[in-house]
Amino acid sequence: MRKNIVAGNWKMNKNLQEGLTLAKELDAALKGKTLNCDVVIGTPFIHLASVATAIDLSKIGVAAQNCADKVSGAYTGEVSAEMVASTGAKYVILGHSERRAYYHETPEILKEKVLLALANGLTPIFCIGEVLSEREAGKHFEVVKSQIEASLFNLSAEDFGKIVLAYEPVWAIGTGKTATAAQAQEMHAFIRKTLAGKYGETVANDTSILYGGSANASNAKELFSNPDVDGGLIGGASLGVDKFLPIIEAF
Ligand code: PEP
Repeated sequence: MRKNIVAGNWKMNKNLQEGLTLAKELDAALKGKTLNCDVVIGTPFIHLASVATAIDLSKIGVAAQNCADKVSGAYTGEVSAEMVASTGAKYVILGHSERRAYYHETPEILKEKVLLALANGLTPIFCIGEVLSEREAGKHFEVVKSQIEASLFNLSAEDFGKIVLAYEPVWAIGTGKTATAAQAQEMHAFIRKTLAGKYGETVANDTSILYGGSANASNAKELFSNPDVDGGLIGGASLGVDKFLPIIEAF
């Protein structure tokens, strides 16, 4: 069964003390509440272990924002999927548009990262989405389909069943320009149809597809009310409990 998920992506924000404070505040705010979605926070690498020991992991999952495309060895500065898993994190955000654009992560590199994440028991939150010029040229469906095919369609149906997708139109990320609920639903339905074509209806219906791109407390309810939108990947609005909690409670 697919799950509703609200996942925060802190990006490169919050030092360790600030991050721990935010994680503990969120933990306290969720205590005793019955939620209609899973909650995940995507922290910088150095926060993972401390955050994972400071919160109730049955209530909040922890995600890394990346992992290496290599198992281990002489890759200075890299952090492996095994290392991420050893912190208590259960998720890893992969293929974020900022990593694709600024760190030149290709579909082939991402394919390796997905395999390593799965081999280490992590759930990839795999991001896809078109840039503005691609949408304006009417190529958004084609772009998103090819991103999925190139990095994920090598997986067996069983392994694909462990993936969470996040549709993040790049023109909506950090811009304050959210996709309309109709645009999000249209793309999510297209993604689900694409998955059904490859893996069948059951896998497609069981896959959680999150929306990301300037989602906030004011638009979350409308976005999440779409039948194919199973939650959100939230950047800016995950950096404070006052902004993040109402998004969680939009479910
Ligand atoms: C993101 O970084 O994944 C994101 C969706 O950012 P924002 O919510 O700030 O647009």
